[in-house]
Amino acid sequence: MTELISIHRRRGEPLSEFTQFRVFNEQRLNAIPQIQNLSEEERFQMRVIASVLPFRVNEYVINELIDWSNIPDDPIFQLTFPQRGMLLDEDYEAMAALHRRGADRAEIQALAREIQARLNPHPAGQQELNVPMMDGERLEGMQHKYRETVLFFPSPGQTCHSYCTFCFRWAQFVGNKELRFASNEAGKLHRYLAKNEDVTDLLLTGGDPLVMKSKHFENYLLPLLDPRFQHLQTIRIGSKSLSYWPQRFVTDDDADALLRLFERLIQSGKHVAFMAHFNHPREMSTPIVREAIRRIRDTGVVIRTQSPLIRHINDDANVWSDLWREQVRLGLVPYYMFVERDTGAKHYFEVPLARAYEIYRDAVQRVSGLARTVRGPSMSAGPGKVEIQGVTEIGGEKVFVLRFIQGRNPDWVQRPFFAKYDTAATWLDDLKPAFGEAKFFYQDEFEAMCREATSN
Ligand SMILES: *Cc1c(COP(=O)(O)O)cnc(C)c1O
Ligand code: SF4
Repeated sequence: MTELISIHRRRGEPLSEFTQFRVFNEQRLNAIPQIQNLSEEERFQMRVIASVLPFRVNEYVINELIDWSNIPDDPIFQLTFPQRGMLLDEDYEAMAALHRRGADRAEIQALAREIQARLNPHPAGQQELNVPMMDGERLEGMQHKYRETVLFFPSPGQTCHSYCTFCFRWAQFVGNKELRFASNEAGKLHRYLAKNEDVTDLLLTGGDPLVMKSKHFENYLLPLLDPRFQHLQTIRIGSKSLSYWPQRFVTDDDADALLRLFERLIQSGKHVAFMAHFNHPREMSTPIVREAIRRIRDTGVVIRTQSPLIRHINDDANVWSDLWREQVRLGLVPYYMFVERDTGAKHYFEVPLARAYEIYRDAVQRVSGLARTVRGPSMSAGPGKVEIQGVTEIGGEKVFVLRFIQGRNPDWVQRPFFAKYDTAATWLDDLKPAFGEAKFFYQDEFEAMCREATSN
């Protein structure tokens, strides 16, 4: 199959079965052939959930990644299709009642907004705290939280080839403009980067920036080859397109243009890092994703991988050791295991920190050193990225050993600190300092930073 694809490419013939991108959303849920085999009740439940949480899935995911003989347990089905448990009973019943009596769209949307607002749509103070300023102006569509790295959310990249049910960016997809942070201002990005010489990394993120045409990438990235941007060493692209639409790199019209752009950036001395989001080994199993990986790596781009740990999808050490082993075999570098954020349908997806640590430890024990480049389980919380390093007993007290992988103050990084062991805690906010201390070492400073940011 892999051979076939490259032969077709050389002859310039489109591969008809792969080239067409067809996507299903909330309104077209019932048009998916495989869904028609489900019971009326199951389909109704999906419709109800999809009127609150984002839903979008394409034919590649439906036909090549989901095992339809294993519904509803199949991990890729859980990853992309609405499940009853994603809404709390009370919210579900209220929305189901509207659907049963054939309420109109406006009424359904009004209730959806109300439920969404209760699902912590912007965790970790992203909107207030991380937006940079330039010449007295807030730069919407950018985040600058850690000294070295600027995040940029290009506005044409604020959607994805399919949506993940657990996504912490879900609020951006449900159509509420106030919840978006996106920018189409390439000029402002460039001016900000030129002025800030501490910044070594630019991270393009989304949504999925790879839903953008290659032309857009050129507009954002080619100007960075100017000597004014010498301090900028690395361009990272955070994307799930290898999972959801590997055709982007193989058969799409502008696949080759994208790869040529990668080559050009690398030849000019930049490092290009592709931060690939893979939740399950199945996503790396099709011939077309392997061809896509091969083509990207041929340009000199390094593919690093990251994924959250999510109940119903990958809460099993064997899944993670298979994932990392397969990644190393394909030449990818395992980078982060994240703890699922405190947003959206978190009650459905969350895994207690104590369990997350065990899964990480058991999985790491099963792989060779080359896969142990992966860090985690890591929480991207307000003060920084906090990793659970272990569980131990000190002076008779059972504790979590923690450290900052990234900190809002770089000085916090790599200092071990301790929290009371707690089997129920699922996020940093649930943890209490160990040894009877009142606060974690960074807390006063972090609170002062928050006060300062909100008074501006
Ligand atoms: C994770 C993250 C980064 C990148 O951190 P690295 O440790 O360099 O991978 C940058 N900005 C934000 C807001 C992040 O969450
Ligand atoms: S691809 Fe990324 S941004 Fe898009 S829905 Fe999934 S997790 Fe969210």
